[in-house]
Amino acid sequence: MAIARFKALELAQSRLSPTVKIPHEKVTEYYGSMTFSDDVMRSLLSPEAYLKITTAIQTGSKIDREAADEVAAAMKAWALSKGATHYTHWFQPLTGATAEKHDAFFDIVPGTGKAVEKFKGSALVQQEPDASSFPNGGIRSTFEAHGYTGWDPSSPAFIYENAGGTSTLCIPSVFVAYTGEALDYKTPLLKSSELLDKIATKVMNEYFDRNVDKVTPTMGAEQEYFLVDEALYNARPDLMMANRTVFGHAPAKGQQLEDHYFGSIPPRINAFMVDYEIEALRLGMPVRTRHNEVAPAQFEVAPTFEEVNLACDHNALLMDLMTKVAARHKLKVLFHEKPFAGINGSGKHNNWSLATDTGINLLGPSTKPKENLRFLTFLVNVMKAVHDYADLLRASIATAGNEHRLGANEAPPAIMSVFLGSEMSRALDELENVGEIKLEKGDNVYLKLGINKIPSLLLDNTDRNRTSPFAFTGNKFEFRAVGSSANSASPMTALNTIMANQLMQFKADTDALLAKDMKKELAIVEVLKGYIKASKRIRFEGNGYSDDWVEEAERRGLSNIKTTPEALGFYVRHDIVDLFTRHNIFTEKELEARYEIELENYIKKVQIESRVIGDLAMNHIVSTALKYQSQLVDNVRGQKDIGIEERYYSHTVESIKRIAEYTSRIQMLVDEMTEARKKANNTENTAERALLYGTDVKNYFEDIRYCVDKLELIIDDDEWPLVKYRELLMVR
Ligand code: ADP
Ligand code: MG
Repeated sequence: MAIARFKALELAQSRLSPTVKIPHEKVTEYYGSMTFSDDVMRSLLSPEAYLKITTAIQTGSKIDREAADEVAAAMKAWALSKGATHYTHWFQPLTGATAEKHDAFFDIVPGTGKAVEKFKGSALVQQEPDASSFPNGGIRSTFEAHGYTGWDPSSPAFIYENAGGTSTLCIPSVFVAYTGEALDYKTPLLKSSELLDKIATKVMNEYFDRNVDKVTPTMGAEQEYFLVDEALYNARPDLMMANRTVFGHAPAKGQQLEDHYFGSIPPRINAFMVDYEIEALRLGMPVRTRHNEVAPAQFEVAPTFEEVNLACDHNALLMDLMTKVAARHKLKVLFHEKPFAGINGSGKHNNWSLATDTGINLLGPSTKPKENLRFLTFLVNVMKAVHDYADLLRASIATAGNEHRLGANEAPPAIMSVFLGSEMSRALDELENVGEIKLEKGDNVYLKLGINKIPSLLLDNTDRNRTSPFAFTGNKFEFRAVGSSANSASPMTALNTIMANQLMQFKADTDALLAKDMKKELAIVEVLKGYIKASKRIRFEGNGYSDDWVEEAERRGLSNIKTTPEALGFYVRHDIVDLFTRHNIFTEKELEARYEIELENYIKKVQIESRVIGDLAMNHIVSTALKYQSQLVDNVRGQKDIGIEERYYSHTVESIKRIAEYTSRIQMLVDEMTEARKKANNTENTAERALLYGTDVKNYFEDIRYCVDKLELIIDDDEWPLVKYRELLMVR
């Protein structure tokens, strides 16, 4: 009785998209209209308050009580005029989702019974949500104290529509324990950006450009996702509970024809895209490109890059927004890294660079030799940083979901390497091999260094490598190994910190040579040459998905950490703890807490998947298969009874046997898996428990799946209870 599946299919096929109203033909007319933007502040605040808040945004300085009250009053007036009824501090706890707790503006004046709209500076700056259930890794006992949320003025407040038509003023905030430890993603990211700003500005000022006052990390995240019809999603308990399909035989037509990639966007999908893009633009998110991805039903959205903290907020908000808007279109967005076996997974490509307040992209080559020494300096330092801390980058993207993508048999390997492109590679090789340079008076140092040949080659560099986890793409690095469901702040915090650390080293090394009276340009090149040599093994230009690379990487001594618990362990490794504590990004306690939380997240996810697999296998698959088998048995018996020759039903007998074989095997494996889970649950130590889940429990997944997928090919399609891959993936 596989009725649910067919009902769902019927529903899915009869869908009509809701009409999407375009607010105005010009995006500029509504872009950012739901944000408390600079323009809004300028128009609503006194010049003094406006100056105070813009200074706070630019320098991170504190805002006094008076100014906070004025900003709060202006924010309230603006929010009410836009129809908001509630306000909330909006933050990103370590659950991975965004968090809100709505308070009404409306209040009753005690003793009078009169209603007023209330929102003071104190409420804007700090709140104490009863948030004791967010993960804290043991930092904050739930009974003892609350965490605080604190306003982050550098990310504009925005008005977010709730389901049902009301809307809420959201104030981007950090989330910190009563005892001061960060309990969110934003706090360490802000610290790491500040750290990087300081040292990068110093490097610029002392070696390249006195006019730079600020260096900002920038990020543009290309976000991949799948779309599935809501009814089909609801008919797949695994999608509902684990966000991925644990069973499902590959369809006859998958992605092999590559006819989906950059193909025309199906109308129903297009309506959804237009709809959420309008909302995103209103919220000040500069979404710009949309296209089909490689896999069927897979798509991508990319915004213009922004300051990294804002970009991370926007990415988290965009994911939430897409989920909300999809509901209107009866679609479900899947951000899971590997929702379908045998089909490409989803990533989030975090494009990252550094920008000065004078408008220079520090990873952008130029036509001027002098500027290219600056460019090479930053490029080579990124490479050296990635080389020295590849394990940290690996840890920063380690989740249960991404484990299906990195290191699984059909996905990119978990090896960190850097792709530069052939021109850039050659340029570095040349630089590395520049011999000792003796300058005569009047010599052109850049000519002697060979640097003035580089620019024109680089500027039209269109080299691309889709298999590299960390690729230079002409004027930025693209961290491609980030998981699609991740909060971008973790990898960006890691990247900012290792780059800052590396630039400090660079400055120390260069200054040491300058102290020996070496000419500045030569000293810089000398140091860079050393880094190019020292970080060579991290460079890889070939096919990152090939088996050859796995072997080659092993020969080079590069890590290839396949499991999440192991990768997460790097967070508490001596050198990483030293790095983060030295630079005040994390305390040791915070790192241990984060490690604990991430391990727990991992355990929970694998545990849920394991239960879903057990439940579906036993109560949906085995039961259906046995029923079908009985029908076949009756059929064979009937044929025998009326004297049909055996050769006519021998194939059916074969099917009966195969069903028996697979169902009994499934039952055995599910029993064993349940035992493995019990054993893991009885393991006190979190790291050991995570390891058991990642190996002993998870090892059953593939074997059970194999048997179930074989049964899918035998059982009558009319009886099969789970929506099939070909049905799930063909959204039109
Ligand atoms: P490409 O052709 O290299 O993919 P795109 O212009 O399509 O480049 O950009 C891809 C993503 O990279 C976009 O999200 C974009 O905003 C981002 N990006 C571009 N330049 C930078 C930069 N300097 N810093 C951070 N991200 C950037
Ligand atoms: Mg891409």
